[in-house]
Amino acid sequence: MSAQWDGLLLDIDGVLHVGDEALPGAVEAMRALQAAKIPMRLATNTTSRPRAAITDRLQRLGFDVEETDILSPAQMAVRLCRERGYERVALITAHALKQDLAELEAVVSPGSAVDAVIVGDLGPGFSYGVLNGAFRSLLRGADLIALQRNRYWRRPEGLALDCGPFIAALEYASDRKATVVGKPSADYFLAAVDELGLAPDRVAMVGDDLEADIGGAIDAGLAGVLVQTGKFRAHELEESSIEPTLLIESLADVPSLVGLTSRR
Ligand SMILES: [Mg+2]
Repeated sequence: MSAQWDGLLLDIDGVLHVGDEALPGAVEAMRALQAAKIPMRLATNTTSRPRAAITDRLQRLGFDVEETDILSPAQMAVRLCRERGYERVALITAHALKQDLAELEAVVSPGSAVDAVIVGDLGPGFSYGVLNGAFRSLLRGADLIALQRNRYWRRPEGLALDCGPFIAALEYASDRKATVVGKPSADYFLAAVDELGLAPDRVAMVGDDLEADIGGAIDAGLAGVLVQTGKFRAHELEESSIEPTLLIESLADVPSLVGLTSRR
């Protein structure tokens, strides 16, 4: 089978695994892609845990991956702050994620004057006090940097609010727009294909999030390949204006897209 694309960006949550279970055929598919040395990055929007913890879990589930295989929104936030010359930031993120943002000087007192407020998924930690502290910093002139703005994600027990609804709340209250550094930001996808050394149209993003993975990739000039695992819901696809380049069952179908023998 001939190759439709030369390189891949693979979303992690909902594509490789859900919770503590690898998705059927995912470990084998990944092994086949790695054996064929397909240029590839794991392009995640996860902001609840650092790259080291993401890598640990993937290794535990049987994936042979390294921390450097992963591109995360936290890395993009550090890059953006460096470009803009931001020094002092407020971090509204999971405590564990702070190791991926260690290059930035984090100011702890809520509401203080900072260059930027950086927001990631805080789960149940998104309390009134935390959001109000961020709001006060925004009123004092800070920029709002969203690590991502996904609406929801799939936890083993069901769908759950992600970071996006809280970003929307802060935008509404402060009347300012967030800069999104994770997917679907074009800068994120272009940084990823740049690392692969390929042109965007030779790379396919494989993901389960119609807006962040598929819409974002297509807007940046990549192909968007939607899997029907993780948070995929058929009616969301029917109702959306986003049209995936390709709809596949799962990661197990991906090796054939880059010219490897199909599993079937
Ligand atoms: Mg996902």
